[in-house]
Amino acid sequence: MYDLIIVGAGPAGLAASLYAARKRLDFLTICETVGGKSNYRVHLADSDETQVIQAGELVAVYRSRLESLRHSYRTASVTSIAAIDGGFRVSIKDDEPALARAVIIASGTRNRRLKVDGESQFLSRGLGYSSISYSHLLSGKRVFLTGDSDRAVNSAIELSLHAMEVSLALLAGGTFTPALIDRASALERITLLRDATIVGFEGDGFARRVTVESEGSKQTLEADGFFLEPEPSPNTDFVGDLVDLDARGYITVNGMNEASRPGVFAAGDVTGNGFEQVLVSLGEGTKALLSAYRYLLDSGTA
Ligand SMILES: Cc1cc2nc3c(=O)[nH]c(=O)nc-3n(C[C@H](O)[C@H](O)[C@H](O)COP(=O)(O)OP(=O)(O)OC[C@H]3O[C@@H](n4cnc5c(N)ncnc54)[C@H](O)[C@@H]3O)c2cc1C
Repeated sequence: MYDLIIVGAGPAGLAASLYAARKRLDFLTICETVGGKSNYRVHLADSDETQVIQAGELVAVYRSRLESLRHSYRTASVTSIAAIDGGFRVSIKDDEPALARAVIIASGTRNRRLKVDGESQFLSRGLGYSSISYSHLLSGKRVFLTGDSDRAVNSAIELSLHAMEVSLALLAGGTFTPALIDRASALERITLLRDATIVGFEGDGFARRVTVESEGSKQTLEADGFFLEPEPSPNTDFVGDLVDLDARGYITVNGMNEASRPGVFAAGDVTGNGFEQVLVSLGEGTKALLSAYRYLLDSGTA
C-alpha cells in the first residue's frame, strides 16, 4: 500500500508530487496528461508577451522533476476511488487497482467546445479559454467573448477595464443573472449580443473574425482576441460518493484542502476555487500535500 496516491499532474498534482518526493513519501501520481491544462496557451496576434512571467515556464520545471521520478508516476485514467480498511482503493483503466493510505484529487476541469467551424483550427491561435489570464495583453484591443453563464459576463466586465471594445455573446439557452447583465450593458465598452449562436471563426494564422446570429440577425465581427467561456466541467465522474461535491460537481474542501472524508484531499481547479490560475493550483497542490503529510503523521503511517 502506498502512503499516498495523487490523481492528476496538472500544476496542482505536480506541486503535490514534488513535495511528496521531498517528504520521502512512498507515493504514486496517476494522470492522463502531465501538465494538464497548463499545456495550453493562447497566442494573440500582435501582442507583446515579453513583459510577463509565463506560468508555463514554471510548470515546465515541476514537470521535468516529476518525469525524472519515473517510478512515481503513471499515465492512465482513474475510474473510481473506494474507501477500504486503512485507506483507499484506486481503480485504474486497463490496469490493476492501486492502494494508498491517503489520496489527493487534483483532476482539474475540462473546457467545453462549441463544435463550430474554425474552432479547432484557431484554438490557441487568437482563440482560447481563460480570458482573464490574458487581460494584461488586451489593453486597447478589441475582444470577443462568449458564454452561457455569469462567468462570461464577469469576465467581460473585468476585460472592459483594459480592452478598447468587448463584444459579449450571451449564448441562447444560457443562465444569466439579470442584474449582472444590466451592469455589463451599462458599460460603454461592452456590446451585448443576446440569445446568440456562434456560426464560426475565420482568420489567417490567427482567428480574426467570428460570425454570430443574435436576435434574428447574423453579423461578422472582427477582434484581436476571441475567448470561449462556457462553464467548464469538473473531472469528478470517478469520485462517486467518496466525498461531498457541490451542486456543480466540484469537490468541497476546507482551508486545509481536506475533503469531507478523512484521508482525502483536493486541490486546484477541481475544488471550484473560481480563480483557475496556474499559480493558485501550484499553491493549493502544495497545501494539500502538507495537509496529507500531517494526516499520515497523525495516523502514525508516514
Ligand atoms: C487555453 C488555456 C489557457 C490558460 N492560460 C493560463 C495562463 O496563461 N495563466 C494561468 O495562470 N492559467 C491559465 N489557464 C488556467 C490553468 O491552465 C489552470 O487553472 C490550471 O492548469 C489548473 O491546474 P490543475 O492542476 O488544477 O488542473 P489541470 O491543469 O486541469 O490538470 C488536471 C490533471 O488531472 C488529470 N486527470 C483528469 N481526470 C483524470 C482521471 N480520471 N484519471 C487520471 N488523471 C486525470 C489530467 O490528465 C491532468 O493531469 C489556462 C487554461 C486554458 C484552458
